[in-house]
Amino acid sequence: MTIAPLRSAAVASVTVEPEWPSWLAARLPSGWRADEWDPVQALFTADPSNPTTSVFVCSVASCATHVASNGSRCDACKKARYLLGNPADFDTTHTPDPSRRRPNTSPNRAMPGVSQFSLADVSPAVRQELLYGLQQRDDAGISLVPQRVRRIVAGLPSGLGSLLDLDASFSSSLPAAASGVLNGVLLHVRRARVEFEGADPTSGDVWECALIGLTAGRGRRYAAVHGDIDFRPVRQRWLRELVKEYGRTARPNVMDLRQTVYAATIASSALAGRPHGDEPGLLAMADMNAVVDMFRITKRPEDGHDYSTSHRRALLRHWRTFLEYARQAGMMDHVPGGFAVNLRFHSIAAVEVTEDDLGRAIPEHVIAQLDAHLDLLGTSTGYASGGWSAADFARMYQVVYAVLRDTGRRPGEITSLRRDCLERVDGKPTLIYDNHKRRRHGRRLPISESTAQLIETWQKELEALPAVPACAQWLFPSPGQRNRPRRGHLNTSQFCNRIFRNWIDELIPGLVDDRLDEDGAPLAYDRTQVVPYGFRHAYAQRHADAGTRPDVLRELMDHRSLDVTMSYYKVSLSRKQEAVRTIAALAVDRHGADRGFGDPLAYEVESVGVPYGGCTEPSNVKAGGGHCRIRFQCAGCDFYRPDPSYLPALEQQVADLRADKEAALAMEAADWVVRNLDDQIRAYSKSADEMRRKLDALPAEERAAVESASRELRRARSAAAFIPLQALTTRSSE
Ligand SMILES: [Zn+2]
Repeated sequence: MTIAPLRSAAVASVTVEPEWPSWLAARLPSGWRADEWDPVQALFTADPSNPTTSVFVCSVASCATHVASNGSRCDACKKARYLLGNPADFDTTHTPDPSRRRPNTSPNRAMPGVSQFSLADVSPAVRQELLYGLQQRDDAGISLVPQRVRRIVAGLPSGLGSLLDLDASFSSSLPAAASGVLNGVLLHVRRARVEFEGADPTSGDVWECALIGLTAGRGRRYAAVHGDIDFRPVRQRWLRELVKEYGRTARPNVMDLRQTVYAATIASSALAGRPHGDEPGLLAMADMNAVVDMFRITKRPEDGHDYSTSHRRALLRHWRTFLEYARQAGMMDHVPGGFAVNLRFHSIAAVEVTEDDLGRAIPEHVIAQLDAHLDLLGTSTGYASGGWSAADFARMYQVVYAVLRDTGRRPGEITSLRRDCLERVDGKPTLIYDNHKRRRHGRRLPISESTAQLIETWQKELEALPAVPACAQWLFPSPGQRNRPRRGHLNTSQFCNRIFRNWIDELIPGLVDDRLDEDGAPLAYDRTQVVPYGFRHAYAQRHADAGTRPDVLRELMDHRSLDVTMSYYKVSLSRKQEAVRTIAALAVDRHGADRGFGDPLAYEVESVGVPYGGCTEPSNVKAGGGHCRIRFQCAGCDFYRPDPSYLPALEQQVADLRADKEAALAMEAADWVVRNLDDQIRAYSKSADEMRRKLDALPAEERAAVESASRELRRARSAAAFIPLQALTTRSSE
């Protein structure tokens, strides 16, 4: 083999010193891709067996031309197929004409083959820059596509001294794939250049992410390329330098570093109010107390809203991690040890998020409107992947919605349903799901036949769709992410925050409330109130309204605490208040005298439901009805305020007392026991009679309204107010 001398670039760039290419060359490991890169000829020849080089063979059976991605055709075959009208059997029948093909490798350096690129004709700096960038990309695990490099080289302006001299328009003139490679290479070269010039990109108070080479985020392997990290909000010089030093030495990812800077900013604002905030040598534990207090109260700067507790805790954790590192790395020897986060005093208590925080029940009439627009769900994206069309994805989202709506499971429990989540026990359909929140797996929920059929139909459709093995077990496989194969199940936040949100906010033409405005036209329903979690509340509300027993509903909802279940037994506020408005005026005292409440609010605030009427005894009201000094012998109490909604309870109580009296007589109980029962029977009977008399005196229409309101209120009370019943010997009337 003859060794021809390399041609140098005709014009040397004025910006390039001869030291630059050799500085880069010294950083290229000797023997870099030795089987492929020939440094003497400056020729790269791809080795198809190298897994880090993207070389595949054209999918036309008799064509040997290399291509960049598996399963694609070479340009010549693509063109031939097009000219033949895209025949279906093209790949198996077409015979390419080898004489019209560019060979995969070529002995002619000026005309490299498909799997080659030559750097013989570029300037030494450009050559080293490209090699350096490619090698850095190797380190980052990005495979090399020789075609793309050749495309870049072919387009370079002649006489280019350095890639850094390239106009930004050059990159955008390239095909997207080649442009991506060039930008990646340029990133590394720019970073190297900063190092070469001896400039420290971390010396200033604002760091350019592209130059500092920190990874982009947790679990990411690539370096961040966009944006700045601004340390200036950290007011104290010493603290600012400390955080920068942490960034330089601990090298956290950019997201974590930003959080650390933000945490330091919060600390900085606290220290600004301390006498020695600018004198690290005088700091003490009291200063740290002030800092941690600031973490407890600080608000989001953009809108002044409170942070969630979990976010506060996360910020404080960043602050602590930073301090611990700085301390251990000897960066804080000038700061007294008392200025440290002590977990015993400096923690922010976790607050459990209750389900009530996660949206409100979606009213049934709104759900009906959503159903009417179901065909729009998931249609705004044309995303297609893994053999699934956009319509296939839309269909899947629509099934997710229906199962969410019908079953009342949490969104994450629906998206993670397994393909075999449906079981029929004695012919009755049962949904098997995992309660991730409580880590209780394999839960069973009876579901309706129509929901079961919907799932079965979808299971059949799934079987007909292409599947990726990693997703095969899921009922709702993942739509995949950029640069990643499809894996796992549909991402919950992808569904809730994008697909569902987009449907509610953009696609559905109008959502109306069941309330009317002054002109009698329906009011618009607030779309922000429609969140996926609202279906769970609606499901529970539906059951509570229908009189499902609390212990059954608790089981259906898979709640750990009955308190959470009980919250659903509150009827919606408007319905309840309407009922209260009707009833409040009809309350009496134990003597039957009118003691109506002036307004609904007074009824709710000044009285509490006890078994047979309202109670206005202040300490019992405060205790929510659970505290009665005379053991709920209400009919003898001046704080007693029965109203018509208690009539069934009163009648039942009278019947129970009579039965108790018979029992007492049979047991030959002491006279005073029987007497007490007699007195109570008389008193409760009087109240009940009084109530009935009042009701009978009402016009029929009004009486119907009172009776309906009474039912509403009784349902509302069955929520929590009747707890004392368990402490009594009598049974609940309803
Ligand atoms: Zn081909």
